[in-house]
Amino acid sequence: MECIFCKIVEGEIPADFVYESENVVAFRDINPQAPTHILVVPRKHIDSVEVLEDDNVCLMGELIFAAKKVAAKLGISSGYRLIVNNGSDGGQEIDHIHLHLLAGRKMAWPPG
Ligand code: 5GP
Ligand code: ZN
Repeated sequence: MECIFCKIVEGEIPADFVYESENVVAFRDINPQAPTHILVVPRKHIDSVEVLEDDNVCLMGELIFAAKKVAAKLGISSGYRLIVNNGSDGGQEIDHIHLHLLAGRKMAWPPG
């Protein structure tokens, strides 16, 4: 198993966890792009949005709901941005689907 996020989920690589549930974990990004930068990750390995199937739909809803709970738990009150990078042009580097939760600064629009 070569997937970094699977290894983090399994506890084989350490991470700074901020949330854990039956199907989802969230931990701090190792290279934060905002004062708060959390990765919200399903325990189940799915490569990307590109390969989502019908039976993954609930899990994707759980990811967004988990992000909301993380924001509340961390006391983020002035907004945040959720991002899903997909594929090489989308900026995806880790092929285990995840949400980025960015907060703590004003986000630019459009994103780069
Ligand atoms: P992507 O570019 O795939 O959307 O996002 C991958 C993210 O994972 C990047 O923001 C990167 O900093 C983060 N990352 C890569 N390796 C590790 C790691 O070993 N631990 C943690 N906590 N984050 C990682
Ligand atoms: Zn994985």
